[in-house]
Amino acid sequence: MTTNLADLIRNIPDFPIPGIQFKDITPLLRDGEALRQAIDAMAVRYAGRALDAIVGIESRGFIFSAPLAYRLGIGMIPIRKPGKLPWETFAVEYDLEYGTNKLEMHRDALAPGARVVVVDDVLATGGTVAAACQLVEMAGAIVEETAFLIELTFLKGRERLAKYPVFSMIQY
Ligand code: AMP
Repeated sequence: MTTNLADLIRNIPDFPIPGIQFKDITPLLRDGEALRQAIDAMAVRYAGRALDAIVGIESRGFIFSAPLAYRLGIGMIPIRKPGKLPWETFAVEYDLEYGTNKLEMHRDALAPGARVVVVDDVLATGGTVAAACQLVEMAGAIVEETAFLIELTFLKGRERLAKYPVFSMIQY
């Protein structure tokens, strides 16, 4: 039996600030069958592709990237918020609606020419994952695809990521 994953995404109005419709994935995460179905669907998509690693974005991207990498038998590369990674890093700063954000990746995380999929839970404006893709490219590696559990289509993240294939499992 398959679960309709969208039934397990809870909409929380005005979180964390007024006007945001927050997609709460915790009902899906607490459902073992649904969690397995979500990871397996990504694994089926990427099995047989010549991938070297799965890149996960802190923090909810880790929830999907690590089990996906495990299923594919390849490594998982964490992209983290500033000051969390202990060794030498590449860093990218990007604009938010108010202010800026920064992401980092270890300089030795990916070999030049490595092919990766970049994973996060939600594609909104695409700013976060675009910065993550930039980090991958600073290492000389190649973004095969970007993958998300949820895509908020009205925010047009897909257009911002026009350079890369985008895969999402649930669209709003
Ligand atoms: P963006 O850079 O605009 O694509 O934002 C993506 C990041 O913000 C992702 O890591 C998401 O986890 C988070 N995010 C943005 N909008 C939402 C939303 N409506 N519900 C849940 N998470 C969101």
